Amino acid sequence: YRHPRAAGPPTRPSGGQPAEVTGGDRTSAASGTSAMEGETATTAASTSTSTAITTMLPVETHLVTALESPEYALLQRSLARSSVLGLDAEWKPSYRRDDLCGGGGEAAYPSTSSLLFPTVTLLQIACRGAPDPAGGAAGDSGPRVFLLDLLSLPLPAVWELLGDVFESPHVLKLGFRFKQDLVYLSSTFASHGCNPGFNKVEPFIDITSVYHYLTNTSTGKKPPKETKSLATICKEVLGIVMSKEHQCSDWSIRPLTKEQISYAAADAYYLLEIFDVFQCNFSGQDSVEQYSSRLTRGLKDLFLTSSVCDNVLSIKYSSASDMVKSSSYALLRNTITAASTSLPLYSGTLPLDLSLSEVVTKYGERILLKESDRKPRISKRKGRRQPPVFGEYEGEFTTNNDWQGPPPWDSSIGGDECPRFLCDVMVEGLAKYLRCVGIDAAIPSSKKPEPRLLIEQAYKEKRVLLTRDAKLLKHQYLIRNQIYRVKNLIKNEQLLEVIETFQLKISEEQLMSRCTKCNGHFIQKPLTIEEAITASKGFQVIPDCLFNQDLEFWQCIDCNQLYWEGTQYQNAVQKFINVCKLND
Ligand SMILES: [Zn+2]
Repeated sequence: YRHPRAAGPPTRPSGGQPAEVTGGDRTSAASGTSAMEGETATTAASTSTSTAITTMLPVETHLVTALESPEYALLQRSLARSSVLGLDAEWKPSYRRDDLCGGGGEAAYPSTSSLLFPTVTLLQIACRGAPDPAGGAAGDSGPRVFLLDLLSLPLPAVWELLGDVFESPHVLKLGFRFKQDLVYLSSTFASHGCNPGFNKVEPFIDITSVYHYLTNTSTGKKPPKETKSLATICKEVLGIVMSKEHQCSDWSIRPLTKEQISYAAADAYYLLEIFDVFQCNFSGQDSVEQYSSRLTRGLKDLFLTSSVCDNVLSIKYSSASDMVKSSSYALLRNTITAASTSLPLYSGTLPLDLSLSEVVTKYGERILLKESDRKPRISKRKGRRQPPVFGEYEGEFTTNNDWQGPPPWDSSIGGDECPRFLCDVMVEGLAKYLRCVGIDAAIPSSKKPEPRLLIEQAYKEKRVLLTRDAKLLKHQYLIRNQIYRVKNLIKNEQLLEVIETFQLKISEEQLMSRCTKCNGHFIQKPLTIEEAITASKGFQVIPDCLFNQDLEFWQCIDCNQLYWEGTQYQNAVQKFINVCKLND
């Protein structure tokens, strides 16, 4: 593990302007210090003071990896002085295909009993900050983002700290659809002995609600029904374009990349900025529109203001208008900070200031975790990877309903090239047809199987589940590329559909090579009529008319069923030659 401070990019001591991009590093570079010496100097300085990681954000960012670290001490100090926090979490799914198939021996199927919530690996806390009651350096009062590395911090200690913060009436917590994060966070801590995880977050305001209040008051329109993404809200409220590149990156690898750190910090930090805009509106100060319209400064003047300059450096603007809008917000925020500095100094142990407590009284919510929230449910689980549920429209399907592949037997993913299917009860007839053309097609072991059992069997036996039940498709995330919804209703057409979809190679020798009753194989050598009569005793009657014909009998190894090459057989072979278009 590489310590973030040694990660190469310029670091700077805390205490400077949060957004200052040119710091002590430039001086050291100018004085010709080698990178090695520079690093040593920084590390030495950080034994007593935390150093911030340089990100593309106008905010100090600290990665917290140990209790006995200046970063953790600074986190504690900042939490005690912040009355507003932005919270966000990143996690890795509790299991993925590679987890299941990788490693040695038999892969364990993720049965519902072992279904876990994703493990939270990183918790981001953005502190709005407040003037230092001890009269510290001016820069010490600015916002900061802390990235808590939950893979290396001892969770019980963090649990105590967070529990207090989450329930403190003096700290307003902001989040974006944070309940899901809290459920995962709670389960992560509970699985490390911190039972029962977290109970509630209060007072809390969801940034989606903030966005709705903002759009309501400024336009008078009803809020749109669909929930916008945080990126969209950021773009609309702050004029900032957030990168979505790292949204799906692996949050369990260490060290985190610089881009991951920036992305993670941004998600928590912009919650504060959006809330600032809301609080301004609420406090009856100038709305941003009014403020912007009264702006007589030119762009040059805006750029000369240091904080605005930082914004310009750190933000990817999509248009000039966004640039002006964003800059106005930065100026507006400065006026709030200036106003709050004139108020009596307060610390986190004191009640919220007047404006904030009004906001909390009016809009504060509470996230409460119930017992039912603490257990993953296969049917209601809202994973990020869960595909949409398809409607039951005959003959009309979206492309999402199509086979994506590759199937589990594909050699590109280490398969043996032997297609295997599991046919749901609704397509049992198809199973018999598949067996007729020599394809391994199992049926569920129980007559009315639960979806869980079907998925478990398909997973264990590396089969593709064939079904007509659209509802089963929502479990696709459990066994990716192992469920296919058959579109045709007629068995002949279903067979052809499966052959074409999975590009099965059917040869004439394969026809009737498998027991249609049980999917088993036949014994190696055909039986004579005498052997067949002996073998059939007690469970199968061989018609007398066969006795004088010179026929070959075949017996299933598994269920002992006898087959012979009579007229029925010949007809069936011809039928499948036609269905599978083996003549063409
Ligand atoms: Zn059989």
